[in-house]
Amino acid sequence: MTLELVPGRESTGRSVDTVMGIAKDAFADGRVSAVSITDNPGGNPSLSPDAIGYRIFSIGMDVIVHFTCRDMNRVGMESRALQLAMMGMKNILALTGDYSGKGFGGQGAPVFDIDSVNLHIMLNLIGKRINAAGDPDSFFSGGAVSPFKRTEGECVAQYAKMSRKVAAGAQFLITQLGYDARKFQELIGIQRHMGIDVPTLGSVYVLSPHAARIMNQGRVPGAVVTDDLLHSVEKEWKDKQEGRKFAIERAARLGAVLKGLGYRGIHIGGIHRDFATVGKILDRMEQIGDDWQQWLPRFNYPQSNGFYAFRETPPETASKTTLGLAPRPLPVVDRILYPLMKVSHNLFFDFDSFLAPLYKAICSALDGNIAGSLFLRLIEHPIKRMLLGCRQCGDCAIQHVGFLCPEWGCPKHTRNGACGGSRDGMCEVHPDRPCVWFRAHNRLAAKGEIKQMCEGCVPPRMWELDETSSWINFHLGRDHQSSGNEIAGFCRKATCRLLVEE
Ligand code: SF4
Repeated sequence: MTLELVPGRESTGRSVDTVMGIAKDAFADGRVSAVSITDNPGGNPSLSPDAIGYRIFSIGMDVIVHFTCRDMNRVGMESRALQLAMMGMKNILALTGDYSGKGFGGQGAPVFDIDSVNLHIMLNLIGKRINAAGDPDSFFSGGAVSPFKRTEGECVAQYAKMSRKVAAGAQFLITQLGYDARKFQELIGIQRHMGIDVPTLGSVYVLSPHAARIMNQGRVPGAVVTDDLLHSVEKEWKDKQEGRKFAIERAARLGAVLKGLGYRGIHIGGIHRDFATVGKILDRMEQIGDDWQQWLPRFNYPQSNGFYAFRETPPETASKTTLGLAPRPLPVVDRILYPLMKVSHNLFFDFDSFLAPLYKAICSALDGNIAGSLFLRLIEHPIKRMLLGCRQCGDCAIQHVGFLCPEWGCPKHTRNGACGGSRDGMCEVHPDRPCVWFRAHNRLAAKGEIKQMCEGCVPPRMWELDETSSWINFHLGRDHQSSGNEIAGFCRKATCRLLVEE
């Protein structure tokens, strides 16, 4: 059992006392293994999870610190990781993070210097350094995963990224919030199918009508509350006291169902006032115990035309997934551009090609002089800008994203897979634009190539190459693909079992 707590925007006073009070009672109760503390949820400023987490840790309660990629660059993140290690808080929930919200004077600058897969690798490598320096305990990092996406493309993007997170060192997973038991079962089935065996905690939430409404509107990235469920919650809360009872009962029933389905833990959220509610949920879960099956049909809130990765339920009886079976008509632009980009890439950017030595010689001649700078400004950049919306990062990653640019196409610059915030195939940040990973999936799936989404992993962008020629950098072995650094080595070793039956 883990319990998610949300610090407020004050450093002292009621909000701090409430969080501390819940944590103290949880510790005294003894049934909660750890409390997890959110990191500026919704991208809005709040008390640091490191500070309040340390106070909680000092009373003896184990703490999971949420660690997002939104507010700091890799230098700050590494420093923060060292600080947490020194404080003894090494349970980390590594997250991409919601997009930046409003703080002092307006919206904050989104950083997203590295993504959550690279954060796992960073924690893994720092852990090794910590061990070498004499501390036997490394970080214990976990990640988030959502089976609750409505489209196949988003589901594949989630499962492929889950595989990369595990390859990068994630040792536990926590699901996003949803109320469709078939989807919860799907995740367990997909993990089995992909050979992933890390403890996974299912999320349950004490659903008030206010929370249900904002989740239904898609304002909590990744959480899914369907119209049907919202109507039920609103009906239940006509009488406030009855509503609260229903909310506790629903959380307990879902917790019991998830345990029955094989989830190794339950992650409880939506606790804002006191521990008593958690106590009631846990008591009721114990009471339900092995009778969980009777409540399974109650968690039947499918999204309209929602995708399921298995035809049969439970998925243990399915020998095959449904992934990659649906016809996939691509927009004309994708139908033309994808093969064009792929052929050009194979022709010009293949170290094994017989032309590679020639390209290297040309790039060496252009490197660092006026001819090279004219080549970048008059040839490379205009072409890439027109075809890809290129931002001239100098460390091109289009080949990892179905030949789409993650710098232009993804506001969080993800290079290893989708964040959890997409909805119906559209981007969390720009709901009028498709998520770049949804498009990448559709391009790759049309050619039977979705395996690429989970194979290996992609090191972070090398900022030292900003505004330089990515073509020259590639051929001169300077970018993330040829760099012999530890991260690239880590990524090359990462493997993924096929998502699609061949
Ligand atoms: S493009 Fe996709 S991965 Fe990037 S921020 Fe939008 S939803 Fe998230």
